[in-house]
Amino acid sequence: ATRHLEELASTDPLSGLASRRSFDARLASEWQRAVALRHGIGLLMIDVDHFKLFNDGYGHVEGDACLRQIGQVLATVADGPSDFAARWGGEEFVLLLPGADATRARETAERLRLAVMALRIRHDGAPAGFITVSIGAARLEPAAGSRPDELVEAADTALYAAKRRGRNTVVVDAP
Ligand code: GH3
Ligand code: MG
Ligand code: MG
Repeated sequence: ATRHLEELASTDPLSGLASRRSFDARLASEWQRAVALRHGIGLLMIDVDHFKLFNDGYGHVEGDACLRQIGQVLATVADGPSDFAARWGGEEFVLLLPGADATRARETAERLRLAVMALRIRHDGAPAGFITVSIGAARLEPAAGSRPDELVEAADTALYAAKRRGRNTVVVDAP
C-alpha cells in the first residue's frame, strides 16, 4: 500500500508523466551529476498556447484529452537515455535533457513544437486554428555551489520571450 501511494505521488494521473514532485527530485540529482561530470544540462519549459480559450470553447473534458495527447508526444520526444519528461502543472510541461549541448536542446524543442502541431487538434479560438505550444529552452553547465533554480528560471524567461514573440515558437537561452 505504501509503495502504491508513493507511485501515485510520483506520477501525474492525467498525463501519465512524472509529477512535479518527482521532477524536482530528478532535477536535483541530475544537477549534482552534471557538477561532478562537468557536463551541461538542458531544460525545456512547454506551455500550451491559448489553452483557456480551448477550455472555454470545447470544455474541460476535451481540454484534459488534449493535455493527455501532448503528454504522449512529450514522452515520445524524450528519447535520450536520461531524458525526463514531467507535467509541471496546469497546461505546462517540462523536459529535462541531462548532458545536452545547446544544439540538442534547440533541436529537441523544435521537434516537440512540430510534433504538437502535427496532432492538428482543432482550436478555432487560436490564430493557427489548431493547438500549438510555446517552448523556452535553457542549457548551462552547473558550477559547484550553484542551484538548479538557475536553470528553471532561465527556461521560464525564455518561455516568456516565446509567448511575446507570438507563440508557437521556441526561444533558446544558452550562454
Ligand atoms: P497563453 O497562450 O498565454 O499560455 O494563454 P493560456 O490561455 O494558455 O494561459 P492561461 O494561463 O490564461 O490559461 C491556462 C488555462 O489552462 C486555464 C485553465 O482553464 C487551463 N487548465 C489548467 N490545468 C488544466 C487541466 O488540468 N485540465 C484542463 N482541461 N484545463 C486546464
Ligand atoms: Mg501557462
Ligand atoms: Mg498557456
